[in-house]
Amino acid sequence: PKSKAAAPKAEKPPSRTVRLTHPDRIYWPDEGVTKEGLADYYSEVWRYIAPHIVGRPLALLRSPTGIEGQTFFQKHAWKGINAKIIDVQDPADKDDEPYVAIEDLDGLIGLVQSAVLEIHPWGSTLADWERPDRIIMDLDPGEGVEWQAIIDAAEETRERLQAAGLEAFVKTSGGKGLHVCAPLKPSARWPAVKAFCKAMADAMAKDSPDKYVSTISKSKRRGKILIDYLRNQRGMTAVAPYSTRARPGAAVSMPIAWSELSADIGPAYFTVENTPTRLHALSVDPWADFAKAAAPLKAITSKG
Ligand code: ATP
Ligand code: MN
Ligand code: MN
Repeated sequence: PKSKAAAPKAEKPPSRTVRLTHPDRIYWPDEGVTKEGLADYYSEVWRYIAPHIVGRPLALLRSPTGIEGQTFFQKHAWKGINAKIIDVQDPADKDDEPYVAIEDLDGLIGLVQSAVLEIHPWGSTLADWERPDRIIMDLDPGEGVEWQAIIDAAEETRERLQAAGLEAFVKTSGGKGLHVCAPLKPSARWPAVKAFCKAMADAMAKDSPDKYVSTISKSKRRGKILIDYLRNQRGMTAVAPYSTRARPGAAVSMPIAWSELSADIGPAYFTVENTPTRLHALSVDPWADFAKAAAPLKAITSKG
């Protein structure tokens, strides 16, 4: 029998039925990545990305003419939306416009058909909007911060999460930084989770004021890393693992093992182009235990 942790090698991507209009439309001009190329990429990573994007409210960065054209960050459904993308109503706000979600690979290809170049899920699922099943600490380097300092910040974040009884996983953002993610058993509600994350960010900034800040103000950020805890708030989102980025380079947000954090890679090292090769070569999915490692958030300690 096959180990759950082993990366599937022989299995073909599942089939899809959504028809792409203009499959040759170029989304990333420098890399020549087309709409069809994007659909192929998402079919390849489907089994890995599915747990992170299925059955959650999604915010979507759409870019109908590619990364060099106009982009739209959309939290709600729009006119002409693909039929495989479903409308969902916020149970806490019946008057709000519907949010969007997907259920299967066709939903994901429906997003591609709709020129979605970035997928930003909520940290909670449609099964329980109020209780997040993950924490995402977004490490945002200011100008002049070295890669090694971002790695150090990720490792310190991991240690602090572990001290609180949580396991931590790391991914590149596909942009400038790293995201440290802790799976949660959905028990604590958004306000408690946010308070926990804020306390951790504030403690990091207080303990190492020369390295970290926990408030958004741009002026204080030069040479420092913003510990952006605000992803962990009801209605806020962060880019999904394996999502592409609508930026030059066709980078993706890549889940990695802690041991892979080194000078060999950078925050935008993994791309639409090199990801399939990486996944086929992997013997173990570094995030295989993400769901299994989920633990409930306990009360906040004074040290954060
Ligand atoms: P980096 O490593 O470069 O910081 P990132 O994904 O962490 O990459 P951003 O792309 O700046 O950072 O996005 C931060 C968050 O802000 C996203 O997760 C998303 O939820 C939100 N966001 C992104 N683009 C927009 C936008 N155009 N309008 C509003 N919110 C956005
Ligand atoms: Mn960031
Ligand atoms: Mn941020």
